[in-house]
Amino acid sequence: MLFNARKALLTITTAAVMSVNSGLVQAADDELVVYSARNEHLIKPLFDAYTAKTGVEIKYVTDKAGPLLARLQAEGANTPADLLITVDAGNLWQAAEKGVLQSVESDVLEKNIPAHLRASDNQWVGLSVRARTLVYSTERVKPSDLSTYEALAEPEWKGRLCLRTSKKVYNQSLVATLIERHGEEKAEQIVKGWVANLATPVFSNDTKAMQAVAAGQCDVTIVNTYYFGRLEKKDPSIKLKLFFANQQTSGVHVNVSGAGVTKHAQNVKGAVKFLEWMSSSEAQNLIADGNMEYPANPNVKPAALVAAWGAFKQDQLNVESAGSRQADAIKLMDRADYR
Ligand code: FE
Repeated sequence: MLFNARKALLTITTAAVMSVNSGLVQAADDELVVYSARNEHLIKPLFDAYTAKTGVEIKYVTDKAGPLLARLQAEGANTPADLLITVDAGNLWQAAEKGVLQSVESDVLEKNIPAHLRASDNQWVGLSVRARTLVYSTERVKPSDLSTYEALAEPEWKGRLCLRTSKKVYNQSLVATLIERHGEEKAEQIVKGWVANLATPVFSNDTKAMQAVAAGQCDVTIVNTYYFGRLEKKDPSIKLKLFFANQQTSGVHVNVSGAGVTKHAQNVKGAVKFLEWMSSSEAQNLIADGNMEYPANPNVKPAALVAAWGAFKQDQLNVESAGSRQADAIKLMDRADYR
């Protein structure tokens, strides 16, 4: 009986493996297959720690978020994947929208991860937090000059602002939350104000935007804190500092990297257990520290270098609005001439 069931399962997974030509074999309950948009060097130590603790073997494929989602859709019920790990709530929302994830009921996840960092229908859960906030020149700006994302649209910042391109999902997510909070009209005024204040054309990445501030081309920009961390590590004397925005109002804009159990997972129970473990204090630093992000579990302290930037209040809007408002945000930024 048992033998037959296992044999049947192996037949199915062999077919699945052939159809995706991945070389993956998944059959037993003590194995998990993960598709990950996070780099191998960030996830491998995590997987190794789980295997050492539980004996569960984890096989994985890494690729960019888009191709992994397309692959899950193409494989459908034949996918060998039990779990999808990806960055950005917009991507997680997209995966749920395309029907490749399933809802998971877990008291452990509900206890460990705050409600604004997971899907309201439980199809995915944030596992680390990335904060997008202001970086300023310590030579030309006093922290008391700064307050909110919205205030960077004021005339006093004319010719002093640098921004990364609107094509990057991080800025689309930030504008999506402005729409969610203020409505389209006010959000558009804010973005138009930013564009009017630009000192230079937009930059292709956060690091270049910060380097422009350091070089004196502009005085302030908006970045994910881990890019600031990388720059600070390379050049500890750089004349830049982080400023946590909107502390008297809505809180710092946050996003997540996270994971969801695939709709056609063969080892659902194992996938949920692994998710729960990843949300625990035992695993959270392994997930967050490698990229200088913040643990999603509020009971876990960030790495020392990250903690040194200070504590801050997070925006409590559910990060899924980054997905649901993404299309509106892209259109709005286009109307505002934010390139
Ligand atoms: Fe990034």
